[in-house]
Amino acid sequence: MTSTERAVETAQQTEHVDVLIVGAGISGIGAAHHLRERFPGRSFVVLDALEDRGGTWWTHRYPGARSDSDLFTFGYRFKPWRGPSIATSEEILSYLDEVIDEDDLGDVIRYRHRVTAAAWSTEDRRWTVQVTREDTGEQLRFTTDFLWMCQGYYDHSGPHRPQWEGMDRFGGVVVHPQQWPDDLDHAGKRVVVIGSGATAATLVPAMAQTAGHVTMLQRSPTFFFARPRTHELAETLRALDVPDEWTHEILRRAYIAESDEITRMSFESPDELRAFLIESMRPLLPEGFDIDKHFNPRYRPWQQRLAVVPDGDLFTALREGTASVVTDTIETFTETGIRLASGEELEADVVVTATGFDLSLFGGVAFTVDGEPVDFPERVTWRGVMISGVPNMAYVFGYFRNSWTLRADLVSEFVCRLLAHLEEQGATTVVPTLRPEDADMPLRPWADPENFNAGYVMRSMHLMFKQGDREPWTHLLEYAQERTTLPAADLDDKSLLYS
Ligand SMILES: Cc1cc2nc3c(=O)[nH]c(=O)nc-3n(C[C@H](O)[C@H](O)[C@H](O)COP(=O)(O)OP(=O)(O)OC[C@H]3O[C@@H](n4cnc5c(N)ncnc54)[C@H](O)[C@@H]3O)c2cc1C
Repeated sequence: MTSTERAVETAQQTEHVDVLIVGAGISGIGAAHHLRERFPGRSFVVLDALEDRGGTWWTHRYPGARSDSDLFTFGYRFKPWRGPSIATSEEILSYLDEVIDEDDLGDVIRYRHRVTAAAWSTEDRRWTVQVTREDTGEQLRFTTDFLWMCQGYYDHSGPHRPQWEGMDRFGGVVVHPQQWPDDLDHAGKRVVVIGSGATAATLVPAMAQTAGHVTMLQRSPTFFFARPRTHELAETLRALDVPDEWTHEILRRAYIAESDEITRMSFESPDELRAFLIESMRPLLPEGFDIDKHFNPRYRPWQQRLAVVPDGDLFTALREGTASVVTDTIETFTETGIRLASGEELEADVVVTATGFDLSLFGGVAFTVDGEPVDFPERVTWRGVMISGVPNMAYVFGYFRNSWTLRADLVSEFVCRLLAHLEEQGATTVVPTLRPEDADMPLRPWADPENFNAGYVMRSMHLMFKQGDREPWTHLLEYAQERTTLPAADLDDKSLLYS
């Protein structure tokens, strides 16, 4: 049999599952846990295009790759975190491995399965999902009653890679953190990291340990916040032999309270918060360091991500002189480095473009409902969990200012409640639908730039669905609000139509 015949034969075999989860990152594995716990009898699969679990934590393997959030809240509600607050990629992957083991999820996760299209048929009351095997190119087909999109928010296959003049004549190596070459040896080399976000803040001190010198080159500053890698309270509770479950819950509450307070200040007293952040950095930086130029952003604190610096490691590298910061604009790459608008030249052997991601809407899956492509920019989100006019589909999009997983857990609990509600009603289909009183509702962009305006969000707004001016047509951004509103969301307020 030829490979084409095999592909055709495989495409004709259709596998049916009750629920199909797209993505085996922190959201998809969490979704699978909740589903198995709540509905042990239901069949489901988790499909992921990558060759292993972890999503973000599998893709990002640059030196020092670590969380920005504390793992008590970035970890799941249901599984105690036993390590230091800030964790490496490997520690996060091991934690996910434990969940996969404990919940016996190994058999339901299929790697190298890229979902390319999802077609809803009202007549059949199910989705038909097209899948391409990344390793063999085979085309597979699944049908499912409910589609649970846990695909993350950016394109895993390629990073956001701005082009600068002269890049082709640069004689050194250019790498992107999302595609880190296994064999890159930067020991003793002159490294320039372009960017100032969390990734740059991680890479600079990690590479500075062995590099000749690392320069962080930024166009504009980011807010940094030095935090201890471990929390004193966790150490105390562990020393007292307090059960891990209690420590996990207590630390979650401590971190959530702290994050709520910082978020509250960012809206109510941004100048005070700005001063606090700047002053907390000052003693950690070298004498005479120009904080205003390099670390005092133009935007309001938390209007873009606040980057954590564990144990102040970035500042230590700056103090020790193994790293430095330059705030300037790139004019051109040269044969030996980068020339800046100021005329200054940075000599480099390795340039790292820590320039972020391109947002990917629903993992690039082509959605149709009864043969019509779903025009997402014309649709409205239902509580940041479902989309108007799209039946039996939920998605996970985490928080910007709180740990992503706090929302992933809340959404998982919500989806399980919705699935149970469908069953109780004897219904098989749920469609978020604008009520007559919502018909003329003013629509707003999915993200409000006043609230959060990171580059990857702003660059992709035209692709995204909208939100309305009232619940349930809003996507709330704060855990402080959603921890009560989502569990209490009324499933019978006529915005969800069942049949
Ligand atoms: C370097 C880095 C550090 C971060 N640190 C933090 C942090 O400290 N705290 C925080 O809250 N957030 C952080 N984030 C945001 C982070 O992405 C999320 O917190 C979280 O890991 C996302 O998990 P996820 O499972 O939703 O998505 P992802 O981790 O993106 O995983 C999605 C998975 O879906 C798969 N997928 C996508 N489309 C398809 C498709 N069509 N077919 C099949 N599979 C598909 C992908 O292959 C991937 O494995 C960080 C992001 C990055 C890039």
